[in-house]
Formats: sequence, C-alpha cells, structure tokens
Amino acid sequence: MMNAFDKYVGQVFDNRYKITKVLGVGGMAVVFEAFDTKLNRIVALKMLKDEIANDSQSVKRFINESKAVSMLAHPNIVSIYDVSVKDNLKYIVMERVDGITLKSYMTQKGVLSLAETLSYAEQILRALEHAHSKGIIHRDIKPQNIMLLKNGRIKVTDFGIAKLPNAETVTMTDKAIGTVFYISPEQASGKAIDQRSDLYSLGVLMYEMATGQLPFNAESPVSVALMQVNAKAKAPREIMPNIPLGLEQIIMLAMEKQPERRFQNAAQMLRHLIQIKNNPTYVFKTKSRDGKIAIEDVEKSKGADQTPGRVSRPMFPMIMGISLAFLLVFGFVVIHMCTWFGLFNWADILSFGKDADPEEEIEELNNSETVSVPNLMGKVITQEFRDELEAQGFKLTLKYDDSQPDVAVNTVLGQFPEAGAERKIIPGQQYCDIKLTLSRGKDAKVLPDLTVKDYREVEIKLSDMGLKFEEKYEVNDNIPVGCIIRTVPMAGEKVNAGDTIVLYISKGTDVKYVQVPNFVGLTEAQAKAQLADYNLVLGEITYEQSSKPAGTVIGQSRAAYESVPEKTTKIDLVISKGQ
Ligand code: ADP
Ligand code: MG
Repeated sequence: MMNAFDKYVGQVFDNRYKITKVLGVGGMAVVFEAFDTKLNRIVALKMLKDEIANDSQSVKRFINESKAVSMLAHPNIVSIYDVSVKDNLKYIVMERVDGITLKSYMTQKGVLSLAETLSYAEQILRALEHAHSKGIIHRDIKPQNIMLLKNGRIKVTDFGIAKLPNAETVTMTDKAIGTVFYISPEQASGKAIDQRSDLYSLGVLMYEMATGQLPFNAESPVSVALMQVNAKAKAPREIMPNIPLGLEQIIMLAMEKQPERRFQNAAQMLRHLIQIKNNPTYVFKTKSRDGKIAIEDVEKSKGADQTPGRVSRPMFPMIMGISLAFLLVFGFVVIHMCTWFGLFNWADILSFGKDADPEEEIEELNNSETVSVPNLMGKVITQEFRDELEAQGFKLTLKYDDSQPDVAVNTVLGQFPEAGAERKIIPGQQYCDIKLTLSRGKDAKVLPDLTVKDYREVEIKLSDMGLKFEEKYEVNDNIPVGCIIRTVPMAGEKVNAGDTIVLYISKGTDVKYVQVPNFVGLTEAQAKAQLADYNLVLGEITYEQSSKPAGTVIGQSRAAYESVPEKTTKIDLVISKGQ
C-alpha cells in the first residue's frame, strides 16, 4: 500500500539518516525507520507533516520540547537522540522501538488481564515520575503513544510534543480524535494543565485496559470533551465485576474531575498500585488529608455491593466537620451511615499500603503514643534523615540562620521543643512538630528573579542550582498561563542547595463554566432572573406567534444543559406573542 510518505523512502536526510520505511503516521507527524550512517544503527525519525511544519507556533514547540525531552533518560521512555531544526526539514531522531503500540495490542486483545493492566500502568507511572521530576508533562498519554515490546516492557513516546486541542478547537482530523478520549477536564476546557493531567489520562487508559471500554464515548469529539468535564463514568466493576475494588479505587481517584482530588503525583499513585500488585484484595481506607479523621473503608466482605463514586459532595463537609471525639463514640454508626449513603469521597483514599489493616483503624484512634523529642543539636539535616524522623512521628519546620558561616550548611543550631520533651501523638496520623534553626553555611546562593518566566524553564534552572521546587497554581489575569507569578522565598533571598522553592504558577484568567438552564416555558421576567442567577448575558429577544401563552419563552439560542463560559455567553430568547 502506497502512502504520501513513501516518496521519502531511500532519501538521506542531512547526509546521515537513510530513510528505510514508514513506521506510522500520526496526527501531526510521520514516523520513519532510518539508518544512522554515522553511528551505524537503526533509528526512528519523526518528521513534522508539511501543513504543521509551516505553523511557526507548532514548530517552536516541537523543537523546544524535543530538546527538553532529549534530557530524559529512563528505561520506560523512548530516548531522543537528535533534533534537527533546519528550515526545510524538521525532525527528531529517536530510539527505534521494536514493538507495537498499546492501541493495536488492545484492539487485538480487548480486555487485558489484571497482571497486564497493573504491569503496564506501573511502567507508565515510572516513566511519568521521571519526566515530572524534570518538569516535563506528557500532555498526550494515550495508547497510541505507548509502545509495547515483545518482552512486556513498555516505552512511552512523545513526551510533551503533541499539540493539544482544547474544547474550542476539537474540530479535528480523524487522527487527532483519538486524543480526546484521554484528555483531562482541564485540557478539555482549555485551562492550565500540570502533572496531574497526565495521571487523569492514565486513569482513563487503565479504565480501558481493565474493562475493554472507554469511560467516555460519544459520536462527536466535542461531546466527548464535554463528558470529560461533566459526565460521571460508570464504575469499572459495573462492567467487569471481577476487577479488584482496590484497583477500581485507584482508577476512579486518578479520574477525579478536579486535579486537587486526584493523586497528586505519580509516586503516590505508584505506591497505591504496588499495594494492589502485592495484594489484589487490598481495599484502601478513606481518610481526610489532614489526618484528623479516619473513616474505615468498606470491608472486604461488604465490598462487592459498594458502588464507589456515588459521592455526595454537598454533604461531605458535614462529615468532615464531625469531631474526632464524636467519631470515637458514634464511630460505627457513622461509618455505616456513610457507606450506606455512599458518602465516601475518592479524594480521601489517601492512606498508604504500609498502614495497618483497615479493621484495626478505629482501634488505632484510641492508641495514642507518647514520644520523646530526640536531641538534634549539631546534627546535619538531610532529606533521608528527615524521612527517618517523620517515620518516627516527628515533622520538622526549618529556619535558616547565616550568622555562623563556619558551621557546615544544614547543621542544627537550635531546636524547640528541647531534647527529652514528651508529646502524645497517634502514630501514622499525627506528628510532633520540631522547629529547628539550621546553619546556612558559607555557600548560600541568592535566588534569581524568576517571575514571568515559563515554569518548565524555571524548574530546569532550579534543578541545575541544586534546588527543589513545589508547584502551586493560581488564577492570574496578567501573567500568562504557565508562567511564574512569584516565588517563596522571593528573588534576592539566600537559598541553600536542597531547599524547596515554592513556585506560584499562573493558571491564566479564571473561566468558570455553567450549565445553560432550560428557559422554555418560563415567563420573560423569570427567564431574565435565571439568566442573572447563572451569570449569563441576555442576547436578543424576538417575539413570534405561537400556540403558547403570550409572554412565555418558546426558544433559546443555546441548548439547555450545554456547558458554557459564564459572564460572557450571550443567550437569545424567543418569546411567544400568542396566536
Ligand atoms: P500518534 O501518537 O498521534 O499516533 P505519532 O506521530 O507519534 O502519532 O506516531 C505514529 C506511529 O508511529 C505510532 O502510532 C507508532 O506506530 C509509530 N512509532 C512512533 N514512534 C516510534 C518509535 N520510536 N519506534 C517505532 N515506531 C514508532
Ligand atoms: Mg505519538
């Protein structure tokens, strides 16, 4: 079968890469097999399609991101060897993977086994963990971008390269349509994305591997995109009852609509997955984030008839508000009511595998323990040491002092409470806080001004400086999406290697979506009042003859229940003049 790209076969690019065949054609690029005559090896060469190669925005992104990705080195990521950016020819050279895409494997096989689902998800998470740690978001996790080798090894391709459609531009070519099934709600609505968007897409992919079905499917890409934002997926166990509840919990948590409710990073999701790999019958407990309330999760025996995902959000804060003491006394009553009404909140399945058996949870609440504050004076605080202390129930709050440059960096100069002081904590849920003053040592650096810079660039720079970072997202009308609004500490302040810099990254202008109400049948005045309630704008009013009583709304320009941006969307109304 000939295709438009066969004409390249036999050509030699840049006197080095001899094209041997077409491996595949994607949404924005064509992938060739080529022979690298300089290093005598077979490679894959990905070339931008003509129509895209002329779009300067896409090209810029293709180049920048490929360069960033070429710094990744991981067994589960397809390596990038070379990036060519000549005017007439733009391509990247990468590892030639001798395998098939997960897409074609799933098409052949339908539902994957539990072992396969877990193994592939685990490998993809390892790839994501590595990329995210370098500040690179994949943006297009889908089975077409996952290569499967004969030995079961997974390799993820196309990190950060694929351009994403947003809800407005999903008038796409059929090749690009594949993408919309896996995009996160924030991608579907054109909002800022972060590493958690990749976890959402992986959740969708896991759903598909485990059930053989996509969670959201519809005729048009726009409808699918809207479903990503608004619709609730059927619980996987409704489709395949033999899926372990713990796996379903992981999938549904990854697929939470709000990023704050999902797993927050790949490492956390991986820990949960490994727990299910080790023990498929494991069921995660639901627990509040601040560790104050612990609710026992559905027991294994009762698990079968629980349909997780029936979450009543408005009522949940009530449960959160119930004090610990109340829970202790009425614990079991509350637990049973919660399970009965389906009040478990997926975002609160944040307990870890190492925790005790769920059945012991309630008892644990009573079991506070006395800990004695260790002597940390003169000790050097490293991350490992911090982790060790945390495992023993101590959380550190650090403050730096640069008055003693001769004392090595991170050495403890002062501590509170002092050594030997006793505190009561519930192990695993409460911590004893120790405030430390550390020496800044000689080699403190000054944090440069990072504002208005692209966060990926900033994260690479911080890593180069030996600094860590934490991302926080905020709405901002002035700073472009993805750029730094401010940092804590601020520019000009002294920092030490290993410090964490909090990056406040702009999410851009906040656009909220509302569902258009059904105005038909209301009076003109009622419709106007509703428009105001929903923050929608009244467009034109026209009057038409109809059998409906004069003054009632008989038509509206946007369909009821359609999701539209508030404050800017105009809605025209048609009102009956009577007969
Ligand atoms: P998409 O991801 O949109 O399907 P791509 O342009 O990324 O499109 O890739 C097109 C096809 O080329 C893939 O589906 C895959 O079959 C093949 N392919 C991509 N990268 C490689 C690689 N490194 N080695 C072998 N085949 C590849
Ligand atoms: Mg691809």
